[in-house]
Amino acid sequence: MHIAVEFQQVSRHFGGVRAVDEVSVQIMDGEFFSMLGPSGSGKTTCLRLIAGFEQASAGAIFIHGVSAQGLPPYRRDVNTVFQDYALFPHMNILDNVAYGLKVKGIGQAERYRQAEAALEMVALGGFGARKPGQMSGGQRQRVALARALVNQPRVLLLDEPLGALDLKLREQMQSELKALQKQLGITFIYVTHDQGEALSMSDRVAVFNQGKIEQIDTPKMLYSQPKTVFVADFVGTANVIRGALAEQITGATQPFAVRPEQIRLGASTSEPQLIGQVADIHYLGASSRLALQVSSGERVWVTLANDSAVIPAIGSALTVHWPKHSMVLLNEAAS
Ligand code: ATP
Repeated sequence: MHIAVEFQQVSRHFGGVRAVDEVSVQIMDGEFFSMLGPSGSGKTTCLRLIAGFEQASAGAIFIHGVSAQGLPPYRRDVNTVFQDYALFPHMNILDNVAYGLKVKGIGQAERYRQAEAALEMVALGGFGARKPGQMSGGQRQRVALARALVNQPRVLLLDEPLGALDLKLREQMQSELKALQKQLGITFIYVTHDQGEALSMSDRVAVFNQGKIEQIDTPKMLYSQPKTVFVADFVGTANVIRGALAEQITGATQPFAVRPEQIRLGASTSEPQLIGQVADIHYLGASSRLALQVSSGERVWVTLANDSAVIPAIGSALTVHWPKHSMVLLNEAAS
């Protein structure tokens, strides 16, 4: 497999801010790759470095094996879909989608043919005559996608493209985006702060924290084998147990994570266990989550199926245990 985009020790500083701090990554051709992290962690700056809207302060970027150094945005084989869609409100949908082709000097008949084909791809065939204001949020999002796809880029950069949509529509668009990406075989580089979104769509995810990548892995590995405290905490819900309590359980002070759904009610003679007091119960619909307050002051989250025979009462004493193999040892930070 070929490499679509490669960062070698790339940094981008703004004054004293290390927006991107020595990032190295290889994104493969045809991959759905997400950059996941909290606000300000450097994801958008990475995307802008690939697009050519930013220049690296240090390091090297390669796009399909060619150095991006000094290459203007329009000479890079990448296209960006922005969160605000950036559609022209006075132009109809077909002209919006065909605009990039017009700039390239492609004749009207041909650009309308290609624009119509791009609209078909996003299930908006026949909508060309409408104005953006006559479309729903989800439809506008698809138009923005069609406008990028019409250029037949090998790499599509998507910056929180579903951020403006409500939850139900977002989930529907997630499925559509994923299916479209697989069908077209284009490399998608997708920026999001939503871990559920990243896990559900991506082949691999890079987790960003303060300008650095803490881990690059498949969604399954990120969830089951987080390498750092930050990743365990940011991806899904994890109990991160450290210090004296960690030592009491494992015999060492290295922090570890155990997922709430791995924890079982009751005592065990062979597995790690904890005794505490039920401090809170959150009803989540399909399950409930119980907060167990242990004597050292920490709270440990435990997931309970709602058909559990016994739901303990708040204030009652409770013993829980979990399989040894479900504990993951963590590093404090990425090495
Ligand atoms: P968000 O999810 O909020 O978009 P992000 O992870 O994409 O966040 P970036 O936009 O890449 O984060 O910003 C990373 C850091 O760099 C932030 O501290 C931000 O304030 C800073 N930064 C980004 N662009 C500039 C700029 N042009 N000038 C100064 N600082 C900047």
